[in-house]
Amino acid sequence: MNVKIITKEKERLTFFLEKASVPFANALRRACLSEVPTMAIDRVEFRKNSSSAYDELIAHRLALIVLKTDLKSYTAKETCTCKGEGCARCQLKLILKEKGPKTVYAEELQSQDPKVIPVYPKTIICKLLKDQELEFEATAIIGVGHRHAKWSPCTIYYKFEPIVEITKKVENAQEVAKSCPRELFIEKKGQLELVKDYKDRCILCYACMDASNNIVKVSENPENFYFEVEAWGQLEPKTIIKKACEILGDKCDEFEEKIKAL
Ligand SMILES: [Zn+2]
Repeated sequence: MNVKIITKEKERLTFFLEKASVPFANALRRACLSEVPTMAIDRVEFRKNSSSAYDELIAHRLALIVLKTDLKSYTAKETCTCKGEGCARCQLKLILKEKGPKTVYAEELQSQDPKVIPVYPKTIICKLLKDQELEFEATAIIGVGHRHAKWSPCTIYYKFEPIVEITKKVENAQEVAKSCPRELFIEKKGQLELVKDYKDRCILCYACMDASNNIVKVSENPENFYFEVEAWGQLEPKTIIKKACEILGDKCDEFEEKIKAL
């Protein structure tokens, strides 16, 4: 198994995984989506709300506010030493007290922990007219995506390695080059050529096969994968992958121990 980073940005990571299998790729993908823990608002206690939005609607918006997550300082309630009662290790309060006229943004939430704050400060919570008030205390906890999508840290998908071959001279080179939405081909004096990094860019749409009457052949290698991770912001893409691997490893260890005990 080989891994090569293709692009790495703050919230986006593309990597090439070589000599793996579909079950492994899917296990990794699913662990990232639904097992990697993040922090999100789970309870809201309203003190005042005279806005036009009712409590449930505001609570729903609050739950979807992306919070920067610090996995070193927080743990899930179920595994916390407080046994689920709620302490500084497993929950965090965010308070808001605002009076209109104004637009209330996520950045106005006062977090107990300066490290856990909204990633997108200009997320609108609601609009208040003159003298309308909004006051609440929200509680954020650690959770996982399979319980609720608000805890999911990213979207992650893969494609098989594309293999594009120009099997013989293409008569309508310009037309074939134009047919590709990702511009994989260059037409030079009537000849069709592939660009160097075509594997990173190809989306396997097969438009070139149709346009060239199957002279250009597109196939997939099901052992090699191009993975794309788009993080929502709670955690960095690399942290999500590392955590997912840790979770998969722990599950295997647990299984091994159970098997040994049989
Ligand atoms: Zn606790």
